Amino acid sequence: MHTYKRLPLTLERGEGCWVWDKQGKRYLDALCGIAVCGLGHGHPRLVQAISEQAAKLIHTSNLYEIERQEQLGERLAAISGMDEVFFCNSGCEANEAAIKLARLYGHGKGVDMPAIIVMEKAFHGRTIATLSATGSRKVQAGFEPLVPGFVRVPFDDLAAVTKVAGNNHNVVAVLVELIQGEGGINVCHADYLHGLRKICDANGWLLMLDEVQSGTGRTGKWFAFQHSDIKPDVMTLAKGLASGVPIGACLASGAAAGVFKPGNHGSTFGGNPLACAAALTTLAIIEDENLMANATAMGDLIRNGLRAALQGTAGVRDIRGMGLMIGIELDYPCDELVKQALEPGLLINVTADNVVRLLPPLNIDRNVAKQLISMLSALIVNFLNRSRPAQTAAKPS
Ligand SMILES: *Cc1c(COP(=O)(O)O)cnc(C)c1O
Repeated sequence: MHTYKRLPLTLERGEGCWVWDKQGKRYLDALCGIAVCGLGHGHPRLVQAISEQAAKLIHTSNLYEIERQEQLGERLAAISGMDEVFFCNSGCEANEAAIKLARLYGHGKGVDMPAIIVMEKAFHGRTIATLSATGSRKVQAGFEPLVPGFVRVPFDDLAAVTKVAGNNHNVVAVLVELIQGEGGINVCHADYLHGLRKICDANGWLLMLDEVQSGTGRTGKWFAFQHSDIKPDVMTLAKGLASGVPIGACLASGAAAGVFKPGNHGSTFGGNPLACAAALTTLAIIEDENLMANATAMGDLIRNGLRAALQGTAGVRDIRGMGLMIGIELDYPCDELVKQALEPGLLINVTADNVVRLLPPLNIDRNVAKQLISMLSALIVNFLNRSRPAQTAAKPS
């Protein structure tokens, strides 16, 4: 089906931060398959772990005990402080599990029509429930009727959440990305999470964090919430968790733990030995190779480098992000930049119309980071000079 507007590019192999197309042209991969290949491409230890597991056992069934799944569950609990994990195969599935869990939790409290607070510009997936939770008309249009039970408020606005608490007694949970990825790398204020935790505690709501994009080391900690001292009740993961082998996870703790009972939820593929071996090895490599510290350092280096290179460039509004989740906001739609970047050999993404998004491998080094800065800043300057109408420059922003 024609569901993607694809670029005219077929990639054939990769090594570290680099990928090669069928014609042998090399590209710097600053996108990682949208935050998936966090170890870059062809990491030898990962390849070996996947090969060994594939030779032993790829899939059994959740009808049986799965040793690899138990090990991964324990590892995730240890690094997150959460109590329980449900495994599935993608981000939207992890969020579906969270939504089901919140509803079941609500019914358990005697709320017959449980509702979940979600955010403007949020992205939670493309299934019918997760697109209903998503704050983008583009994602929802044509798929009405949407799933009911979501209340939308502006992102990073505690007063709006408090207001809902005062007048909607069906609310049972808040679902939020701490850094909105698809929404444009929007980083919340430092006190936002604290505030949400307080409101959730005061009202008996579950605090549910979608860390599908921001998790697994991307922001310089295992999970973005760990930049603070609070803990969520539910957290969802996917994207980078198994470095490209499909996996999703919904973690629960506190009041959210024990809500799902046998028979409440399930998945055929979820948590199979191959995906869990890939995830376990991904986590081990991130730790052993100090990749969270690297993500922090390289993220700062790339943001500062871009700020210096783009200083005074009319049309660059903001350079922001956390660790290796980086956004460069222009005051002009810049989708075209993605295609233009192929020419010098660079893979990037544009989201929310005017935000260049970078999600490079967690093991990018200083040398490649500098190449990224110089290639991208030249592209942006050139793009703005050629495409941005002069009157935009004259308009006060
Ligand atoms: C990508 C993404 C999803 C959806 O993940 P899929 O694996 O594509 O279903 C959900 N939430 C966030 C924050 C994401 O970035």
